[in-house]
Amino acid sequence: MPGLWRDDFGHRADHRERRGGPVIRLLLFVVALMFVVRAEPIATVDASAPQEQRKLIALSFDDVPRMRGAFMDPQERGQRLIAIMKEKGVEQAAFFLNPGQLTEYGDTKGAGQRIRTYVAAGHVLANHSFTHPRLGGTSAADYLSNIDAAEQWLSKQPGHRPWFRYPFLDEGGKDMAKRDAIRAGLKARGLLNAYVTIDGSDWNMEDQALRAKKAGKTMDMAALRDLYVETHVQSANFSDALMVRTLGRSPAHVLLLHETDMAALFLGDLIDALRRDGWEIISADGAFADPIYRSTPETPYAAGTLAEALAWEKGIKGARWYERNNTDIANRLFAERVLHEKK
Ligand SMILES: [Zn+2]
Repeated sequence: MPGLWRDDFGHRADHRERRGGPVIRLLLFVVALMFVVRAEPIATVDASAPQEQRKLIALSFDDVPRMRGAFMDPQERGQRLIAIMKEKGVEQAAFFLNPGQLTEYGDTKGAGQRIRTYVAAGHVLANHSFTHPRLGGTSAADYLSNIDAAEQWLSKQPGHRPWFRYPFLDEGGKDMAKRDAIRAGLKARGLLNAYVTIDGSDWNMEDQALRAKKAGKTMDMAALRDLYVETHVQSANFSDALMVRTLGRSPAHVLLLHETDMAALFLGDLIDALRRDGWEIISADGAFADPIYRSTPETPYAAGTLAEALAWEKGIKGARWYERNNTDIANRLFAERVLHEKK
């Protein structure tokens, strides 16, 4: 779908050319300022702001179809995700599938039908491997076969995109030969390494909620919502600041989420909070059109977000990953704020 690919990004390029040189920009800025001081305070994103200052983010959901969480049936979860994105005007998110799980959970339980409803709502499907192996524990040949098995299923589906997301964001660790073998294999297959730039470990929050439910503990749902929202907005801003230091600009970001109950409950709140914080939600097609998603970063250890890898490659000082991706820190926050336990 080459037409769609240019949606958001082509639009950005147009703007950049029209803006002209520094003198014209300064003049436009002064004129704009004259209007702003006279007008009512502007609460929404200023669409005429320089593109480099805009914060763009696309949503992606991994591990589809994912196992049941603490709060609802997976079918209800899917319906809620679709309804939230429709209500909030999120036109296209990417769902990264493990088609091997369709056999595991059985199409009779509706996973196949749920996936078709995602596509009918305008969202797209891509490859997250057939059975979610960890590259560190798999040979390159077996790993590529696993990708092929998923692609065989996916290529017949409407809404399919030629993108691959590494399970566990494990791109081979210290094994450079394996890293390069998979990178070459993806290239030969015409698959894009569909990196994420923002990770808040939502899967772990889902897991914590499931454990609390099984242990019969009471969860403060408002506090859980706040923790989920705050964590992802913070993580987004962390990655954006890191990318601005690394690239000299804010790229089109991709947020990693999973097909979880957390998302079905709180995605609407998260979208609202991101927008209040100045973020614009763009399509997955638009985000992956950013040239950073053609990068092959050279780092001593291949794993994690693209933001982290690019910063490491460039020798950027300071923390390269958001602290709540440390599960000790995240679990302490969950215990204190959601379970009201003192640790
Ligand atoms: Zn996964």
